[in-house]
Amino acid sequence: MKKSKLAIVYHRQPYEEVAVDGGVHFRPNKSPNGIVPTLKSLFNGIEPGRGAWIAWKIYEPSIGVDFERVVHIQDDNGGFTVSRLPLTADQVESFYHVTSKEALWPILHSFPQAFQYDNVDWETFREVNRLFAEATAEQLDDDGIAWIHDYNLWLVPGYLRALKPDAKIAFFHHTPFPAADIFNILPWREEIMRSLLACDQVGFHIPRYTKNFAEAARALTGAAIDQSAIVDDSLSPTGKALSEPEVPTCLVLGDHFIHLSTAPVGTDPNGIQRVLETPESEELQRQLVAEMGGRRLMVAVGRTDYTKGMIESLLAFERLLERRPEQIGEIKLLVTSVRAASTMTVYETTQREIEGLVGRINGRFSRLEWTPVVLFSQAIPFERLLAHYRVADICLTTPLRDGLNLVAKEYIAANFGRTGVLVLSEFAGCAVELSDALLLNPYSHKSMDRALDQALDMSVEEARGRMAKMNKVVRDYDVNRWGEQIRREFARLRRPAPKPRALA
Ligand code: UDP
Repeated sequence: MKKSKLAIVYHRQPYEEVAVDGGVHFRPNKSPNGIVPTLKSLFNGIEPGRGAWIAWKIYEPSIGVDFERVVHIQDDNGGFTVSRLPLTADQVESFYHVTSKEALWPILHSFPQAFQYDNVDWETFREVNRLFAEATAEQLDDDGIAWIHDYNLWLVPGYLRALKPDAKIAFFHHTPFPAADIFNILPWREEIMRSLLACDQVGFHIPRYTKNFAEAARALTGAAIDQSAIVDDSLSPTGKALSEPEVPTCLVLGDHFIHLSTAPVGTDPNGIQRVLETPESEELQRQLVAEMGGRRLMVAVGRTDYTKGMIESLLAFERLLERRPEQIGEIKLLVTSVRAASTMTVYETTQREIEGLVGRINGRFSRLEWTPVVLFSQAIPFERLLAHYRVADICLTTPLRDGLNLVAKEYIAANFGRTGVLVLSEFAGCAVELSDALLLNPYSHKSMDRALDQALDMSVEEARGRMAKMNKVVRDYDVNRWGEQIRREFARLRRPAPKPRALA
C-alpha cells in the first residue's frame, strides 16, 4: 500500500466506535463543535486514500492488543487510515494526566504555582512520544507532511525527524505559549524546544504566543528571528492585554528554517445555524424562553479547570446581586463546569469550590420560585447547548488564561440577528479578534463589576450593533478559513531542506 502524504497526529480518534450486532462500526464525529471535522477536511486536498490519522487507544496488557491497529475509514473526506497506537492505562495516566496536565498545562497557562513535578515520569513521556513518532513514520511517505497537535506530543517532532529526515513536519498549539520566564520553569525546556525546532512549521492561535515561542527559542538555542510581519487590525495589534504589534514569521537555527504560523481556530457558524434551525432546537429554544418567564438568562460555559475563571464569574455574580438588589429574582446564571476526566486534586478542589460558591449564592438569594444559579457538572450535549446560547441574554466568559476559547465564538455564531452580549476576559486568545465584546480583566473586581453592569444596562441598539460586528468576524474567519490558511502554508513548505542541528 502507498504511504500517506499527510499524517495528522492528534490524541483523539476522529470517529466514534459503535458496537453493532457484535461487530465494530466507525461513525464519523458529527458534532459541529471541535476541530476534528476540520482537521479531517485537510485530507480532501490530497490523493484519495493517502491520508493517515494517528491517535491512541488503551489496551489491557494482560489481554494484549485485541483491536486492529490500523483501520480504514471511508467518509466525505475521501478515505484515510487511522492508526491506533496501543497504550496501557498506566502509560496514559503518566504521560497525559500527570505530565501533561499537572506539569505542562499550568506552565502553558502561566500558572507556575500549580506546576507539579514530583509525580512526573519523564521517561514515560519520552517513550509515548517516541511510540507516536514511530507509528507516524510507519504511515508517512518519506516526503509527506506530518501535522502534530498539542503539547502532550511535544517530543514527537524530534523523534520523527530522526526517522524521516525528508518529511515536512508541522506542529500546532491549541493552548497559549507562555513568556520565556514561565516556560523556562520546565526542567525539560531545552529538550522540548529542540524537538519543536526540528519542525518546518510551528503554529499558534495568536501573535503573542508566536512571539513568546520565538523569544524562548532564541534564548534557549540561539535561533534567530529571520522574518517578522506587522500584525493587522483584525488581531488588535495594540492596546489589549494580549496585543502584539509585530509577529515573527520565520526562525532560523543553523541552516534550518522554521516557519511560524499564527492562525486562531474558528468555529462553524453555518453548522451552528443549521442545528439552531431544526424543529427540535426551535422547540427547545421556545421551552427555555417559557421557563425563564421573562427573566434574563446569563450563561457561563466551560470545563472544570482553574484556568477557566469560573470562580471569578460566580463571585462577580454574587457581587452583582449584592450591589443591585433589583436584579434579585430577575436574572439567572446557568453555569456548566464539566468535570474533568482526570482525578487530579487541583480539579477536585476547583470543582468543590465552584459547588460551594453556587450553594452559598443560592442560599443567600434564592426565593421559593427562583434560584439564582443553576450548575451542571455534566456536559450539555452540544446541540442542546446551542439552544441555550441562542436564548441567553449574556454570555460570561472570564478565563484567567485560555488559548482561544471556542465558547465565546460559538455564542456569537448562535446569536446571528440577535442582541446577546458577550462579556469576555481579555486573557482569552479570541479577545484580540473580538474587539466588540465587553472585555474585562478577570483579576480585577472593579473591571468585572463594570463589565457586568454595562452588559445589563446596554441598549438593544448597541447590543445588536456589537453582535452584528462580532458575527461578521466569526463568519469571515471560520473554521474552514482556518483550514485554508493551514493548507496554503503547507503548500509552501519545502524539503529536503538543510537538516537542523543535532537534537539534544
Ligand atoms: N461544551 C459542550 N458542552 C458543555 C460545555 C462545553 O459541548 O456543557 C463544548 C463547547 O461548546 C466548546 C468546547 O466544549 O466547543 C470547549 O471548548 P473551549 O475552546 O471553550 O475550551 P477547552 O475545553 O477546549 O479548553
